[in-house]
Amino acid sequence: MSPLFPALSPAATGAGADRPALRFGERSLTYGQLAAAAGGTADHIRGAGRVAVWATPAMETAVAVVAALLAGVPAVPLNPKSGDKELGHILSDSEPSLVLAPPGAELPPALGALERIDVDVHATGPVPEDRADDGAPALVVYTSGTTGPPKGAVIPRRALAATLDALADAWRWTDDDVLVQGLPLFHVHGLVLGILGPLRRGGSVRHLGRFTTEGAARELNDGATMLFGVPTMYHRIAEALPAEPELAKALAGARLLVSGSAALPVHDHERIAAATGRRVIERYGMTETLMNTSVRADGQPRAGTVGVPLPGVQLRLVEEDGTPIAALDGESVGEIQVRGPNLFTEYLNRPDATAAAFTEDGFFRTGDMAVRDPDGYVRIVGRKATDLIKSGGYKIGAGEIENALLEHPGVREAAVTGEPDPDLGERIVAWIVPADPASPPALETLADHVAGRLAPHKRPRVVRYVDALPRNDMGKIMKRALTDG
Ligand code: ATP
Ligand code: MG
Repeated sequence: MSPLFPALSPAATGAGADRPALRFGERSLTYGQLAAAAGGTADHIRGAGRVAVWATPAMETAVAVVAALLAGVPAVPLNPKSGDKELGHILSDSEPSLVLAPPGAELPPALGALERIDVDVHATGPVPEDRADDGAPALVVYTSGTTGPPKGAVIPRRALAATLDALADAWRWTDDDVLVQGLPLFHVHGLVLGILGPLRRGGSVRHLGRFTTEGAARELNDGATMLFGVPTMYHRIAEALPAEPELAKALAGARLLVSGSAALPVHDHERIAAATGRRVIERYGMTETLMNTSVRADGQPRAGTVGVPLPGVQLRLVEEDGTPIAALDGESVGEIQVRGPNLFTEYLNRPDATAAAFTEDGFFRTGDMAVRDPDGYVRIVGRKATDLIKSGGYKIGAGEIENALLEHPGVREAAVTGEPDPDLGERIVAWIVPADPASPPALETLADHVAGRLAPHKRPRVVRYVDALPRNDMGKIMKRALTDG
């Protein structure tokens, strides 16, 4: 197939060698330097079965992954904050033959048995030819572990190319774009969209190391055109806007503000729009499918919608018995199923899970539930496994109740779950982090607030106050940890 990164090919790095590619803090690499560094690193790994990458938010991670892709060796990004148990599971599952790490990074004992290669960003070597075929595995990325132990999704090269080109079309993403982001690099969002995306386009990315509102504002006010973040980052932005005029100016001037990995609360979306005049664009994807839908750059972003299927993605909603839902009525809830060149090939070592994830006609069952609005926009109501509450004969999505609760001034964070109830089947439980722990809003107050905005049967019947909600590295609420705890 054609090269994944045309701008890194030997021919391109003649004319475009001085163009910026990557920046992490004070360190930066041009396309010419990145090609040489990836070439130098590729020399060490050619012929390996799979390589693990100690994926700190640093230049070395980007160089290591690009080197592996060019050398045609599947890379397995590791979360440096994983505990020994999770790391042990991932290593025995994926069996890498060596680990690429930044010099000086201290690796935990779980990695002790692996050969270690320090990534030298100043190494030089010829750019590998990048000749692997379409279906060849490029990455093994572990899912976020929001609903259970992480599963290793085998992502072929074809899927990387397809998803990044579809996003380029939807977002008018070009080599003039400069992305700023502060995402972890061991998941699809930060690594595939946030590093490989700019490199496939021939544009550049500035990584903040750790996300701060000041850092995002600084880069957007200094030439960056796009910001990618997860909802917890946009929440911090919404909170900081009133006191940070530089931030409002930065967001107002950005070409594209994109959110994904979890639902962006309506309250945060609206606050950002009010303070900056800009609406955040939401896109929806998964480790297994890469990106499925997005609001397009020239589309109409609305709070709570993730836009339309990307080019090449076939998307349908189906009822529990598999019947497709054709209605664009904003009401009929079904599971999202997708098919297209963006899909993974299998869960590593899990043939049963892989088989169960696909329908007979090759659609992937996402486990996410949604409705479609009259204009075709997809609105996700939540996950089948944890966000659908069956109460009093109704199927209620947790998300809209969470959105309503977040609009109450006494609520800082909210999560909604169901629990068994002898009369209702399930009753709605609101987990609340109060804005002021000394005077948390009472159940009755919250129930009235929700009933007034949504419908009486959507009001919480139980409230539980907590200091914080359990969240994973992507800021996703781990509902099983709430209900099992
Ligand atoms: P695991 O599969 O291990 O339980 P996970 O599903 O959170 O974890 P990922 O593949 O990283 O792992 O996340 C994909 C999920 O994230 C989607 O299935 C969906 O539930 C959620 N998601 C992603 N983008 C959005 C979005 N814009 N709005 C709502 N949900 C989203
Ligand atoms: Mg999942």
